[in-house]
Amino acid sequence: MILVPKSCGACSVCCKELMLDLAGSLKLAGVLCPHAVPPFGCGIYDTRPEVCRSYFCGWHHLPSLGAEWRPDACEVLIAFRTGPAPDGKKDGIEFMLTGARAKISWLPLVEYIATLIVDNDPVYLSLPGEPGYQSPGVYLNDIAPLTDAIARRDFAATTAALTQALQVCSDYPKTPLPQALA
Ligand code: SF4
Ligand code: SF4
Repeated sequence: MILVPKSCGACSVCCKELMLDLAGSLKLAGVLCPHAVPPFGCGIYDTRPEVCRSYFCGWHHLPSLGAEWRPDACEVLIAFRTGPAPDGKKDGIEFMLTGARAKISWLPLVEYIATLIVDNDPVYLSLPGEPGYQSPGVYLNDIAPLTDAIARRDFAATTAALTQALQVCSDYPKTPLPQALA
């Protein structure tokens, strides 16, 4: 396979949706970084903080994902969870829906999540956190209606279970950031 280098282009989703420690100054989730100059990207690209240089964007690093998966196009931000998770769950891949909730039934997304779960890769679904609050997310691999639907290759039931999981995220009580971060 020939890998074509991916470019962020006009995307600045991570510069808005993630909470970042920008060299001592905290940028809250849901707030566009003051250094972002959409649609041109980062206004301080050459001197951007280390946290931005080392950010692992799922779209960039998963070679099977084409241009339609760029986060500003598909409204899904893919991130890798690493290190001990506060909820005790495993490392894995997180899909954050940053736009319309209806995107949960996007065929490539449903198929990709199903493939990862079949392969026993830990998968999370999340929504962006509001400024000052944590991003609500759910671990998908333990949701029996979802795994059963995937095992039956039932697309409608898989989509319905993912929609239900997204609703759980949406209904999750808002959790303020730890005081040290707020
Ligand atoms: S989300 Fe990915 S593609 Fe978009 S600006 Fe960030 S690194 Fe680039
Ligand atoms: S410093 Fe640049 S790369 Fe980092 S969050 Fe801000 S705009 Fe994005």
